[in-house]
Amino acid sequence: MFRNPSPLAVTLTLSAVLPFLAQRSVTVVVALFLGLGAGLVSPVVARDDDNDTPPLKNVILISLDSVRADHLSLYGYPRRTTPLIEAHLEEHGGIVFDKTSAVAPSCHPSHTTILSGLYPQQTGVPWCGEDLIVRLSDMDEEEEIEDLEDFQEDFENQPLRLKQKKISAVMNFLKIPADLETLATYLQGKSFRTGGFVGIWTVTKRFGYDRGFDVYEDKMSEYYGPTLLAPLLKYTFRTQRRQPAEKAVDGALTFLEETPKDERFFVFLQLADTHVPYAAPDDIHFDEESQEDLDAVRERQQERYPEENYDKALKKMKAGKKGFMLDAYDRSIKHSDAQIGRVLDYLQQSGRLDETLVVITADHGDSMGQHSYLYRPKKGKLFFEHSVYLWEETQHIPLVILDPAGPGEVFHRQINASQVDIVPTIVSRLGFDYRSFGTSALPGVDLLAMRDRPRNVYFLTFGRGKPGLLKKGKLNFPTFIGFRRGDIKFVVDQNRFKSPRKGRCFLFDLEADPNELVNQCDFDHPEIEERVLRYRSQLVDWYSASVAERFKKKAALAEELGEE
Ligand SMILES: [Zn+2]
Repeated sequence: MFRNPSPLAVTLTLSAVLPFLAQRSVTVVVALFLGLGAGLVSPVVARDDDNDTPPLKNVILISLDSVRADHLSLYGYPRRTTPLIEAHLEEHGGIVFDKTSAVAPSCHPSHTTILSGLYPQQTGVPWCGEDLIVRLSDMDEEEEIEDLEDFQEDFENQPLRLKQKKISAVMNFLKIPADLETLATYLQGKSFRTGGFVGIWTVTKRFGYDRGFDVYEDKMSEYYGPTLLAPLLKYTFRTQRRQPAEKAVDGALTFLEETPKDERFFVFLQLADTHVPYAAPDDIHFDEESQEDLDAVRERQQERYPEENYDKALKKMKAGKKGFMLDAYDRSIKHSDAQIGRVLDYLQQSGRLDETLVVITADHGDSMGQHSYLYRPKKGKLFFEHSVYLWEETQHIPLVILDPAGPGEVFHRQINASQVDIVPTIVSRLGFDYRSFGTSALPGVDLLAMRDRPRNVYFLTFGRGKPGLLKKGKLNFPTFIGFRRGDIKFVVDQNRFKSPRKGRCFLFDLEADPNELVNQCDFDHPEIEERVLRYRSQLVDWYSASVAERFKKKAALAEELGEE
């Protein structure tokens, strides 16, 4: 969907990809003829037992925080933000998924999906709890929460001291369920040595993300506060503390050194310097030519988002500051690329490259002011954001698979991919049947065994400060929910989700309109109306079925939705 493909991009047609896929996709072909067009249920695709590609021994999963695909030069961005990943791709080949969607625009739900293969409403971690957690200190008071909305209302009216006491109850509430299978628990059970090295507080031990890891390093050692951006931020001391990418990578490399050569390993690396406030060492910069490209980037922004659609508040920001924000973001991506380069170098030098699958992705993107999308905690304070809406700025993420047994070229794949596919793809490539993973059927597919084709991938958000967690034993409705299929993107708000003719809906053709400027839902046309009703009903069916899968409350939910 990008207009400026990277020079190295070799977009191959389906027929060119097929020889690589053919040996691993016999069962897939059958699935394609079974009429999966409705897209409500993902096909169960087993790997071909006669597959002659031997399984890989190890896996490294890298999640970049808040990285939108269109700021990677790998995906055609004008500045060279990812030179080392690209150099690796040029030398060794790899697979770049061009149409990958995040399941949610927030760290908690997305990371839980990346690790578990389930959608947020299935994991029990659908919501980002920043609003309650931010500004509050370490307290260890246990408290049962039954209704988070009541709790939140109650919470707002309490003095700070009591707020502080209650926060650990929220922390406990946001923990990933103790029975949730993750890549770490699964692979540890298969005798892998498992190590997690994370940069941001949202995936720390505190929330249970360390379960299944032999080593989990989440020490938030650096304070990212006193920067030029500090006055723009409302983040507290706590949330401005991070583990810098270079330290996370140091930890991972030590772990790899200490892992015996005959042992299999799983490394989860979460690099968070790309999250607001965009930290990068001073020596990370772009060459002169790229500095000039920054102007081109700004021009492109203006071009892509016409006056009326570009955020008024952002326009008021001084040009220098705007440039600074974009520059800081791009530099933080380049810094992460450099750190990933260290991991790839290590694999090569240690002779482990040929036996290790490397998956690079992001938990979500970040808004850059498009669609008037800025967070305003208070008047006059604003910064670039995510968590609330489902525009492509936050939903379109990178996904790159470096597979040493691949064809040695760069394949740009057009299948609709999602974070729910990461678990099935990794588990399959390591030689296991992903149907043995966890206790619920995984909604994703093994991307390496699938042909390129449109399929429904879903995303939802419970917004900021609007808890979507269990209310009296039920899941609340998402504030926005939608899907992408091919280049069609459909999103409804909560009202339209509950009732077919109320509330807002958004329908875009991302091929013709990649910036989501022409909402076809606004057109008064019988064909559009029919599509909107059909798509909305697909969303309701999908959500009801997936919630029922987790909570076994399908009947009650359907009743509440008041289906036509
Ligand atoms: Zn995040």
